[in-house]
Amino acid sequence: MMSDENKIINVEAFPVSYQEPTDHNRFRSVCLVKITAIDGQVGWGECCTYFPEASLAAAKIIDAFAEIVIAQNAFHIDKIWLQLNKHSWWYGPGIASLAISGIDIALWDLKGKILNTSVLDLLGGPVHAKLPAIASLHGTKKHIEEMAEEISAHTATGLHGAKVGFGKFGDANLGFDHARDVEFVEQVMDAMGADKSLMIDLGVNNFWDIPTAITRAKAFEDMGVAWLEEPLGNDDPEGYKALRDQTGIRIAYGEREWNARGIKRIVDTGTVDVVGLDPGRIEGITGFQKAAEICGLSRRQANAHNFSTAIVGAASQALSFANPACYLLELQPVYGPAQKDLVDKPIWHENGYVNMPTGPGLGIEINEDMVKSAIIK
Ligand SMILES: [Mg+2]
Repeated sequence: MMSDENKIINVEAFPVSYQEPTDHNRFRSVCLVKITAIDGQVGWGECCTYFPEASLAAAKIIDAFAEIVIAQNAFHIDKIWLQLNKHSWWYGPGIASLAISGIDIALWDLKGKILNTSVLDLLGGPVHAKLPAIASLHGTKKHIEEMAEEISAHTATGLHGAKVGFGKFGDANLGFDHARDVEFVEQVMDAMGADKSLMIDLGVNNFWDIPTAITRAKAFEDMGVAWLEEPLGNDDPEGYKALRDQTGIRIAYGEREWNARGIKRIVDTGTVDVVGLDPGRIEGITGFQKAAEICGLSRRQANAHNFSTAIVGAASQALSFANPACYLLELQPVYGPAQKDLVDKPIWHENGYVNMPTGPGLGIEINEDMVKSAIIK
């Protein structure tokens, strides 16, 4: 008879929304997952669903997945991950990948909590002694000088650079006009100083055709922009091939892929240098590990898409320290409730270097009252 040790007794989904100061204080949604083992230990995970309807859909799927997960051994993470993938064969990937992500992250956290070991150590330990942090933010102001001042104030805290989202809410109006974009890059780089990196990340409101992308990329490359993210969206192999043929700028995309298979497909096009991986979307810590391995084997940089709550933050922190393909970690420079109040020990940096995770599990305890107060009805 199977022993009851480490037996999972409960799986709960919490579709919640929170205000994000780094995104114009707009409400963003996630679905949190709590898994409880027979000894009372709990692990928490997150599906990075972004929109309320996706959070509710993920919660429904997690409720159904619970029948598969409950009564299993909490240490059998690969087995559960495979069973959930197999079960969702018809409607996955997509929302199913988000749901699997939340459960998988919770299982890694739970295993670490039961063993009193950090997730980082469960993953094989740190392969980096130090991990540089950069600011991940959006351009929001009308005047370029004000944005340059604001961004350089963030990097002056030690952060190694800034990734700036174009085409976002507010009055920045970036990504629409060549001269304004060039002016922005010049002023921001000038204000930050030569030892800082600037990354530019196109948003869904920007639409660049191939000639526009080539012209902008050449200008940015000449100015020393470290990478250009999603200039042609998430899925344009022919466009990216043309851009690659015409410029030497490092091209970033990948964060919208659902699984390691998708990452292999884009890496195989030979058009991506920095591969975005979201632990709350790419089938969890297990899925991230598989994808980051592909990046490493192909000598591509893997980069955690860390723009969500402190749970994806803690998972990104552990994964980035554990993977040789990861070289830095993006942090939101102004923490809101989802990063600083949701947990007891939010991840942060010291003089621009990310703190080493200590555990147990993801090294965080969740404020459950806050979770319950943020439920999407
Ligand atoms: Mg991005």
